[in-house]
Amino acid sequence: MNLIELEKVEEALRSDKITFAEAGEKIYGSTTKPWQTEHWKKKRNELIKDSCEQCGSTKPQMVLQHMWHPSSYRTHVRIAYESFLEDEKLNNSLPDVKDEEVQIYLDQFTDTKESCPSCGVRSISKRKTMKPTYRCAKCYHEFDEPKMVPYHPKLGVAPSFNDLKRGMANRRLQDYIWDTYGDKIRKKAILQGIEEHKRYISLEDTKTFCKRCAFLWDRKRKKVCDVCKDTLIPIQMHACYKCQKDGHPGVL
Ligand SMILES: [Zn+2]
Ligand SMILES: [Zn+2]
Ligand SMILES: [Zn+2]
Repeated sequence: MNLIELEKVEEALRSDKITFAEAGEKIYGSTTKPWQTEHWKKKRNELIKDSCEQCGSTKPQMVLQHMWHPSSYRTHVRIAYESFLEDEKLNNSLPDVKDEEVQIYLDQFTDTKESCPSCGVRSISKRKTMKPTYRCAKCYHEFDEPKMVPYHPKLGVAPSFNDLKRGMANRRLQDYIWDTYGDKIRKKAILQGIEEHKRYISLEDTKTFCKRCAFLWDRKRKKVCDVCKDTLIPIQMHACYKCQKDGHPGVL
């Protein structure tokens, strides 16, 4: 998809002429890769230099290396969801969970099991001769009387009343956010995706790399030292060990 097509989709989605699903299908379902478009080829020829911006080599061929990549749709959805969640928490009180509802859930835990009286885990061992009789495998607390905790064969040990109440309220809030703002969340995520896609195909975050530097960067996460242009270092660093000894900072 080229810039003009992208902007058309963006405009149509903003003004609700198409749904987020239709827009998403156009953006993410497109089989034409950005670098197959005319726009891309033209832009590339304009931007590409004769020498590698990493190591200075002039040996052909040069490639345009992206220094920035768009986030995934999933990430955009998560960020959009969180912004709606924050607004909701600021403006409204949390969904109410009644004590009786919590109790109904806890009433399913009809069995009891032995556990450590200090940390609550069930992995305790009974010793044949040593006193105290029990020892906790996690916190090493030693004791004669295990604490009996409510248990359910499928659900495990019962959570504490307050943890459960908080968990139920959070789940209720989560459901409420999705039911109320689900379409808005997805629309916001798609719009953000389009924004980043536009930046990506603009090729503004690119550098000219030689083939070797591109390979090292993508496959090995390595590059030549920014100072001596010789020693290989991890891409997030600035100077190699030798250049650091000459006073150059390791990272910038
Ligand atoms: Zn290079
Ligand atoms: Zn313990
Ligand atoms: Zn160096």
